[in-house]
Amino acid sequence: MLPFLKILVRNIIKGPATEAFPFGETYTPKRLRGRAELDPSRCLTCGICSHVCAGGAIAMTESADGRGMEFRLWHNTCTFCGLCEHYCPANAITMTNDWHLSHEQSEKYTCCEVQFVEYPVCEKCGERMLPRLHQRLSKGLVGSVSTAEIMRICPDCRRLTSAMHQIKSKVSLTAGRSNS
Ligand code: SF4
Ligand code: SF4
Repeated sequence: MLPFLKILVRNIIKGPATEAFPFGETYTPKRLRGRAELDPSRCLTCGICSHVCAGGAIAMTESADGRGMEFRLWHNTCTFCGLCEHYCPANAITMTNDWHLSHEQSEKYTCCEVQFVEYPVCEKCGERMLPRLHQRLSKGLVGSVSTAEIMRICPDCRRLTSAMHQIKSKVSLTAGRSNS
């Protein structure tokens, strides 16, 4: 058999040596930095991601009714640097390895990750408050007032609860002294 025929037969049996893409999927490394994604249930609306963003790709805008914040990340502008994920204190942003972001030029302002982060409601007064930041800051700082309760109330109600707790303990201490 002619040498080129041997090669031809061998290659036909072996199949294609190149990637099937774009007609099939191609290999994607696990740690590839692709589309950034937000988990709104974790976001603290602190804005650090927007502050450190190398591409100026993230905007956070409070809704007119004060119910929460809109998070918008323009994939078109993102440089995939990963700074937002690195600096996010709540692990709310993840760089996925999804790189399927090609789009028409006309879609450059709409090819976005858009999420609404709703502020939680204070269980005592019903006011909206910043999500969960207070939970972290208040841990272990308020004596015997339950941390679980602290997590569900706004800073004003927290101060009031803490003050009431202090007053109650002082009153019971004074009562104890005058009885003895
Ligand atoms: S995603 Fe992270 S850094 Fe950005 S606002 Fe939310 S908590 Fe802050
Ligand atoms: S990966 Fe970099 S450029 Fe893209 S949104 Fe995050 S900080 Fe901005």
